[in-house]
Amino acid sequence: MSVLLCGSVLALLAVLFLNTPEESPKRINRQQSVTENTQEKTKETQETRETQETQDTQETQDTQETQDTQKTESYVVVIDAGHQRHGNSELEPNGPGSSEMKKKVSSGTEGVATKVPEYELNLVLAKKVQAILEEKGYQVIMTRTEHDVDISNVERAKIANEAKADAFIRIHANGVDDSSKQGAFTICQTPHNPYNGSLYSVCRKFSECVLDEFIAETGARRQDIWETDTMTGINWCEVPTTLIEVGYMSNAEEDRLMQTEEYQDKMASGIAKGIVKFLEE
Ligand SMILES: [Zn+2]
Repeated sequence: MSVLLCGSVLALLAVLFLNTPEESPKRINRQQSVTENTQEKTKETQETRETQETQDTQETQDTQETQDTQKTESYVVVIDAGHQRHGNSELEPNGPGSSEMKKKVSSGTEGVATKVPEYELNLVLAKKVQAILEEKGYQVIMTRTEHDVDISNVERAKIANEAKADAFIRIHANGVDDSSKQGAFTICQTPHNPYNGSLYSVCRKFSECVLDEFIAETGARRQDIWETDTMTGINWCEVPTTLIEVGYMSNAEEDRLMQTEEYQDKMASGIAKGIVKFLEE
């Protein structure tokens, strides 16, 4: 009996020690509740198991399981489906304190062949990425879940900032005059960005992870990572961010491809894998 009791105390101490949170208060609460559940589970396990050896194995498995769950649950991902049904041409500062003003949000481009608007494709993909990440246990916050909204690019960045997002992904598709252009690229700030240049290396890494996994999953033509300080939605970010341009709606072939469910699933899977790679490495 005393051996069992001793084992219980050690197991509890091990669980508590291994789960010492180093995150924000919001995350500590989530972790504590998981830890409490595990303590219950560990106690129940001990009461029903016959030998100490079996208990040790079970405790190790439980602890490992708990650690994995917590690691995933502690990440917050904010997904922004670019644009909305109706643009808003009012102006807002291009960066915090900037006198340069840009339009709040546009309605985006549209498919040259399919005529599908970009804001629709972006939301389809955003919801697919959301489903994949939630299935894996991540906490996902969407900047929008419908088309009839009015959320400026600054406001989208602020949603990610307020959520203290571990990753803020912005999903877009491109449209240019040159109809032969195809492929995907990601965007981040330069190291000299006056607002958040200190986030450059982490955003660059995030942009690489997402682009690499997206290309691997879809087989799309790989364009490079574009570093620019012209994007309002990037300049206002205080958290790791990247913007992916998944393909060219101005290219008839790519436009049609991007409207197939099969390719949409590949795109979403690639984006999700990139986010996971960035967060887990
Ligand atoms: Zn766009």
